[in-house]
Amino acid sequence: MTSSAAVVNFSPEPGSVEVREFARPDIGTHDVLVEVEAVGVCGSDLHQWSSSHSWPVNYPVVLGHEFAGTVVQVGAGVTGWSEGDRIASETAAVIDPDNPMSRRGLYNLDPTRKGFGYGVDGAMTRYTRVPARCLHRVPVGLPLEHAALTEPCCVAYNSVVENTRISPGDRVLVIGPGTIGILCAAMAKLRGGDVAVLGLETDQKRFRVAEKYGCKTLTDAEAWCLQRDGLGADVVV
Ligand SMILES: [Zn+2]
Repeated sequence: MTSSAAVVNFSPEPGSVEVREFARPDIGTHDVLVEVEAVGVCGSDLHQWSSSHSWPVNYPVVLGHEFAGTVVQVGAGVTGWSEGDRIASETAAVIDPDNPMSRRGLYNLDPTRKGFGYGVDGAMTRYTRVPARCLHRVPVGLPLEHAALTEPCCVAYNSVVENTRISPGDRVLVIGPGTIGILCAAMAKLRGGDVAVLGLETDQKRFRVAEKYGCKTLTDAEAWCLQRDGLGADVVV
């Protein structure tokens, strides 16, 4: 098969997303070709669709950066990966290893990086080209549909575990019950927080998801935040 359907963002005009034919990509020496099994729709995909994004997009581009799949072809210079390996991918497809942020190990913050779905073609198609350094192994028994949530889970983990101090019992208020908000709330729960998610009356469906993680849901946070010591929430995400 030489081409497949792909979800393509083709211009900066609002609404410029459509399904197009997309050729199976050729891979470079240090790449693998991944057959995509599952891909998430990120808020940033919607921003590109409505053209309310704030980052440069390489039009036309295949959307999708939250994905998992199976390696179907391996570049000549790639070691440690084989056809049939089940993978989840990082998002920074192109980085400058000499950028000061990359040199500090923070290549995800390299301002010149190009990510899947805006800088290079992403995963809302059948086959996508991925540099081997972006790959992570998916454990046996974990469905690829769940593994596609690795990237948003990492966003939440980085925010709530790496960059926030939460002590057991702290009142943590998460503003916004979107995917990232709910995952942040779930991570804060894992850290022992007493967690509430703040949203709108129209967010009932999302609230039910947050409640599954043991979080309280609120449309007005003031009383809950002030309840203990009158000083407000210990942590606000
Ligand atoms: Zn995203």
